[in-house]
Amino acid sequence: MVKTWGGLAVVHLNIPEVKEIFKNDKPDTTNIRLKGDHRNNKKVLKEEVGELILSRRPTTELDVDKYGPCISCHQWVLLKNIKRHLQTCNKEAAKMTKGQITIQSQVEAGVLGSKPSKWMLTEVFPSMILDDVGVIAQGDQTIVNLGENWLQRTVDNKEKRRYYTSQHMRLMARLLVEVRKLDGDENSGQKPFADYLHPVHFDKVVAGALECCIPYMDDVDELQAPSNGIKLKYDLRRMLTAHWALLVKENPHSSAAQEVKTFIELINVQWDERITRLAHAVLVRRQFVVKKELPDPEDVEALTKYLSSKMKAIKLSPDNYFCVVGLCQARLLMYNKRSCEIDAIR
Ligand SMILES: [Zn+2]
Repeated sequence: MVKTWGGLAVVHLNIPEVKEIFKNDKPDTTNIRLKGDHRNNKKVLKEEVGELILSRRPTTELDVDKYGPCISCHQWVLLKNIKRHLQTCNKEAAKMTKGQITIQSQVEAGVLGSKPSKWMLTEVFPSMILDDVGVIAQGDQTIVNLGENWLQRTVDNKEKRRYYTSQHMRLMARLLVEVRKLDGDENSGQKPFADYLHPVHFDKVVAGALECCIPYMDDVDELQAPSNGIKLKYDLRRMLTAHWALLVKENPHSSAAQEVKTFIELINVQWDERITRLAHAVLVRRQFVVKKELPDPEDVEALTKYLSSKMKAIKLSPDNYFCVVGLCQARLLMYNKRSCEIDAIR
């Protein structure tokens, strides 16, 4: 016989959790229902069949990529509004930044995990350049997870989101290459990024960040606030948060997860100062290493004379237009010795 409650047939009474709830006179089925919905929604996202179960249906067409589970009650909400939802659902969890909450929701939804999502595979991977850096970016799951997060962050920008995602993944892959070099271990060429997300590797990651993000930096403004260094800081924190959430999901008492937290703390406290300080050191070292190849003054003089004589002799006719432009630009370059000004001529 099927037991009924409130006119509805209860078909899962053989499950102990459900049985327990229905022992009460006034059973509260909210949590168990949300759990069921959550399971259904994860499947929908993974297999791309079926329909998301939401507490509030959108009035416009439903875009599954914009939704994710609340990290506390597992109700699926618009990720854009997830922090607002948490403020009424779990005040403690709502203290985290929206970015951290979104990452944890993506872990709960199974979007961040052990392989790239279908969205990533169909939208981002095909548009990426597959040089050495691109291959590393696509092959390292920690970097892919960062990409999944960027795809979500830029979901409203349909035209550009794949490029933004790919840029961030590539920058992180370049960092991995540098950190592997600094590691010097014979197997370091194969080590995944996750292996370096441990406090003992913090110095290496900082040094790697410098090597890869300021190779041509030589002006003072950039030295004071190295923009790529700052970008890497935020992306590293996102990567660490995702890694932490995955570890905790597997084992809530994981000591590895605790170490990841320490790494995040180190970044919060030390990154800015260390990057700026090391940037100075890199520049000083570079002054000794880099040999500036200057042209021979006699060659410069000969070329200048040649250009001047040509310019005097040339007839200003439409046929000669491109030749005149070329001569003028070359002469300007010889005079100013800076190519950026020629680029700026309109
Ligand atoms: Zn909730």
